[in-house]
Amino acid sequence: MAMDEKELKSRGFLKQIQDQRYSLRIKIVGGQVTAKQLNSVYKLAKKYGNGAVHLTARQSIEVPFIKEDEIDAVLEFLAQEKMEPASTGPKVRTITACQGNGVCQSGLIDTALLARELDERFGGRPVPHKFKLGITGCRNNCLKAEENDIGIKGAMVPAWTGENCTYCGLCQKLCPADAILVDQPNRQLSFRKENCLSCGRCLKKCPRSSWQGESGFVLYFGGLYGNRIVIGRQLLPVIHSKEKLFQIIEAALQLFDQYGNKGERFSTMLDRIGWDMLNEKVKDL
Ligand code: SF4
Ligand code: SF4
Ligand code: SF4
Repeated sequence: MAMDEKELKSRGFLKQIQDQRYSLRIKIVGGQVTAKQLNSVYKLAKKYGNGAVHLTARQSIEVPFIKEDEIDAVLEFLAQEKMEPASTGPKVRTITACQGNGVCQSGLIDTALLARELDERFGGRPVPHKFKLGITGCRNNCLKAEENDIGIKGAMVPAWTGENCTYCGLCQKLCPADAILVDQPNRQLSFRKENCLSCGRCLKKCPRSSWQGESGFVLYFGGLYGNRIVIGRQLLPVIHSKEKLFQIIEAALQLFDQYGNKGERFSTMLDRIGWDMLNEKVKDL
């Protein structure tokens, strides 16, 4: 008897165009996968698939050509290897992330840790339609935060202390926002805070540590990159507390649960009910 496609999809097995063949999507949080896990995927693809894997646009691994009658054996194999299928369907999907400050020189936040924390709190949660969370470690935006239902971007709010400054002008050269003006002859530096993009370059590159700052998160809401393309909107200033970040995401998901129609994306719901509803919910948290 043919198995229920919808039910299989919710368990991570996506029906292929080939009869009775499924592509298994494996859960990978924040794009982090160990060599041991890769070895397990290798064994799985050889034993149950056609020996190939597909790397998805959102950092998951798919093993195609799983036979319908081997699905239970595949699930058992995954559990033994301490892996699990990715959440598909109307749920909070795989949390994606760039390398962040654990590896990347430009990183301002620990994206890998945040991805795991978000996955523990929100991963796989049922919602009216798929909901994507993505984390990018700095303004370079390798992970493209604004494409997500909620995108998170690492930020740094700098302050110039003046201590040890030699007025070399490097920070002015590196600043992408014309926020710094160094007057070398008169040994003065002016910082136009209102222009600052919180990219953190001045602080990271100053050879005299004359800038200080606190890292944080910029949030973008309602991004979409499919049939309809919508760039997520920044509604709040930089957030420095992780607990506050979690509360804001929780509030947004509750709003989606409360007002979202089945099959309606977060952005479409916000257009329908009004973005002020979200603003009101998150602005004072
Ligand atoms: S977004 Fe920034 S931190 Fe992340 S990989 Fe790109 S440059 Fe590095
Ligand atoms: S890079 Fe550092 S030392 Fe050079 S002008 Fe800027 S703050 Fe001063
Ligand atoms: S954080 Fe970036 S945008 Fe802001 S002053 Fe420093 S270099 Fe300029």
